[in-house]
Amino acid sequence: MTLARFKMCIDGQWVDALSGKTFKSLDPSSAEAWAELPDADQADVEQAVQAAQKAFENPAWRNLSATGRGKLLRRLGDLIADNKEHLAQLESRDNGKLIRETRGQVNYLPEFFHYTAGLADKLEGGTLPLDKPDMFAYTTHEPLGVVAGIIPWNSPLYLTAIKLAPALAAGNTIVLKPSEHASATILELARLALEAGFPAGVVNVVTGFGPSTGAALTRHPLVRKIAFTGGAATARHVVRSSAENFARLSLELGGKSPNIIFADADLDSAINGAVAGIYAASGQSCVAGSRLLVQEDIYDDFVERLIERASRIRIGNPQDDASEMGPMATAQQLAVVEGLVADALAEGARLRLGGKRPAIDARGWYYEPTLLECDSHSMKIMQEEVFGPVASVIRFKDEAQALAMANDSQFGLAAGIWTRDLGRAHRMAKGVRSGIVWVNTYRAVSAMAPIGGFNNSGYGRESGIDSVLAYTELKTVWINLSQEPMPDPFVMR
Ligand code: NAP
Repeated sequence: MTLARFKMCIDGQWVDALSGKTFKSLDPSSAEAWAELPDADQADVEQAVQAAQKAFENPAWRNLSATGRGKLLRRLGDLIADNKEHLAQLESRDNGKLIRETRGQVNYLPEFFHYTAGLADKLEGGTLPLDKPDMFAYTTHEPLGVVAGIIPWNSPLYLTAIKLAPALAAGNTIVLKPSEHASATILELARLALEAGFPAGVVNVVTGFGPSTGAALTRHPLVRKIAFTGGAATARHVVRSSAENFARLSLELGGKSPNIIFADADLDSAINGAVAGIYAASGQSCVAGSRLLVQEDIYDDFVERLIERASRIRIGNPQDDASEMGPMATAQQLAVVEGLVADALAEGARLRLGGKRPAIDARGWYYEPTLLECDSHSMKIMQEEVFGPVASVIRFKDEAQALAMANDSQFGLAAGIWTRDLGRAHRMAKGVRSGIVWVNTYRAVSAMAPIGGFNNSGYGRESGIDSVLAYTELKTVWINLSQEPMPDPFVMR
């Protein structure tokens, strides 16, 4: 098969790695190489960061009004809409995500850029009602400088958009490092950013591996903010790197989100919500509802109906419109899933569905929708993120026990609550320690709704009205109105 060949985007130019090294990206549905990309090392990262710093100081960007930045973002959103089918196909090819899912995400992507474009010129500072009559003071929101965006492989375009749009709206420049497993669409996004009219160097993309390319970027002294999405182990490296020059951080990490089904719920909806939570995207979603907590009165019925629905999921080529579940994005991830299921069975979990690779005519990294029944919430499979199509289900007695189980986790990214009782919905939403709570729905996203986690799911929020502020510094300006000479220099004014 002929390989697609990509170059990186540095300072508005399409370049190979200075070393000439490349790496191959594999198609998850066939396990075969389909693309070749530059393998950036420290020297390439240096060029990208220097280009971003130069662009940050370039009057063409620095002096562009906030309204002007908004216009460019709006144009970028329009270009994404014009190229949506190409982007959706490319992402599905690269990371094995279902074409119907990538189409859904890409169709919505322009909204993020349009919404954030509208925020660019609403970054108002304030005038301060000072307690010093001879002084006037005001605040302004200033861009930070060079931002590093570190992106995982599961939803690269979406997870880039929620960093790129606010970073640019605030007047920063950015160097993006996508996962080596899914870089193609981020390079396309950079191409569209250039076409939209962003000056050279404002958006740069370096491709390569985490421990080399990613680490060189996150420890670079000119990087003023790191917007990271990925796993906790990598995040710890990133936090250490940031300590060198106190780069700002946002960390969107993993989860073990509870999907809590009460006996009074609409069961048809709750079953669809459970399927959406854990089997959509083959479970490779940070907000996967991987812990199913089900009230004992309906437990047996719920489990039987869930098995019936999940066993009808059509597993197949992600680029086939009829497929409902595609492969794992990487061979390593498939091995992780198999290992965690084996550990769960050894610990006493009962396998009710799946637990193996499907018998389909493909060499890709497929895994069946899997359901494990657990008697104890302290089992490893109830506590650790799988990042695959594996749900563990457990029964609970009442609201108090459901809440205790829900909060018995190192994570706190999302939670689903299924009930018709309004009071219970609000009590549970208040009690659950997570950044997102969905009541009678699951996996809903909006440009207007902040996402982010409690506890080990990270810190900082992306999307929503405050998302642009997270890419700014607050500056306070003091003006002395007095006509008197400066008083005693040894006393604080
Ligand atoms: P990962 O291994 O932590 O990788 C994330 C990114 O970090 C990739 O671009 C990776 O590059 C890079 N990286 C690896 N080592 C690095 C280092 N030493 N310094 C700097 N960058 C480095 O995570 P993943 O396996 O790709 O993604 C799965 C995780 O992301 C899960 O835990 C999931 O829950 C989480 N996630 C969270 C959200 C959210 O919004 N909260 C959304 C999606 C995913 P390479 O891939 O090239 O190694």
